[in-house]
Amino acid sequence: MTLARFACDPAESRGRRYPQAPAPTRTEYQRDRDRIVHSSAFRRLVYKTQVFLNHEGDLFRTRLTHSLEVAQLGRSIARSLHLNEDLVEAIALAHDLGHTPFGHAGQDALNHCMAAFGGFEHNLQSLRVVDQLEERYPEFDGLNLTFETREGILKHCSRSNALVLEAHEPGGVGQRFLERTQPSLEAQLCNLADEIAYNAHDIDDGVRSGLITLEQLQEVALFDDFRRQTLNEFPHLSGEAQGRRLLYEAIRRMLSAQVYDVIAATQRMIDAQAPQSVEAVRHLEPMVQFGEAMRAKSQVLKKFLYQKLYRHPQVTHTTGQAARVVSELFAVYLARPQEMQAGFLARSEAAQHSADAVNNRARVVADYIAGMTDRFAGREHERLTGMKLL
Ligand code: MG
Repeated sequence: MTLARFACDPAESRGRRYPQAPAPTRTEYQRDRDRIVHSSAFRRLVYKTQVFLNHEGDLFRTRLTHSLEVAQLGRSIARSLHLNEDLVEAIALAHDLGHTPFGHAGQDALNHCMAAFGGFEHNLQSLRVVDQLEERYPEFDGLNLTFETREGILKHCSRSNALVLEAHEPGGVGQRFLERTQPSLEAQLCNLADEIAYNAHDIDDGVRSGLITLEQLQEVALFDDFRRQTLNEFPHLSGEAQGRRLLYEAIRRMLSAQVYDVIAATQRMIDAQAPQSVEAVRHLEPMVQFGEAMRAKSQVLKKFLYQKLYRHPQVTHTTGQAARVVSELFAVYLARPQEMQAGFLARSEAAQHSADAVNNRARVVADYIAGMTDRFAGREHERLTGMKLL
């Protein structure tokens, strides 16, 4: 498998923050992926909500299965475009490590709690996890990943946060948000693979949960065209008992069509801009994208899922409860840091004596809550308030 000249080459990596000798059998990006898979934050993804709370059903996606699907789609597209599959896999597996329990409701609640202390943002938190919060090495904090993996993990970043990053690491992963340049194609690809993955699996989970129906989905051409195509070829799937097969076949066709569309549209952009190196990619227009027609169809699907699934009263009821759990935990830990686990209590006490004590103590609480699984957060809330909300 030859790499394109504009792909990330591990031999040309900008390296790690703490220099380490190369591994004898693995490339630097394979090594990053392995470190991510062995991290505690990665294992916790299995008990974190994607859309449905973890305990609402055993078959719904969690952050872990979502991340695996993003890695699969990403690798498959990367191979066709001669990009670095290992780097794509590393970024995809790490991209949601910073997510709070309870999905977006948890993130919004924690961001609200942290408003006076610098805010909370899950992309930045994913970077904090791999740079600082994982405790696995004797000589440094974090996983000491390569620049390229860290660049891909930090998908979005506000200007104020980028300035903070830049002060700690001049010319590092914050720089592109100040200069408004692009990340590698591997990083760009993970963003789109993320979107393709959740649009597809949220249809699946949404229909299986009964919150959305195939009838409602008729307004979404991207899905419905493939449902009708499947029924034309396999009329026996029209019966109630075959509903699952119809759903899966339509989703499979939709996923394939999106993957082929991204490959073709991105290849056209690459041909037109003809980047000669990764550095050139960073200074050109974004290249990984859908073709125009697919982009429009995908927007319709996203809008549908937002209105009919993410805003469904049953979903918003549970996420409302989840937001309350996060906010109340935050208040308790901030007032009584001794309720946190020993390592976080120690960090909170150390923060007490730092120059920016108020913000630093709140950040320790945010790190603690963000790292929780759904069920640990629920149990902690019950222990501390006596109320069982979830
Ligand atoms: Mg994601």
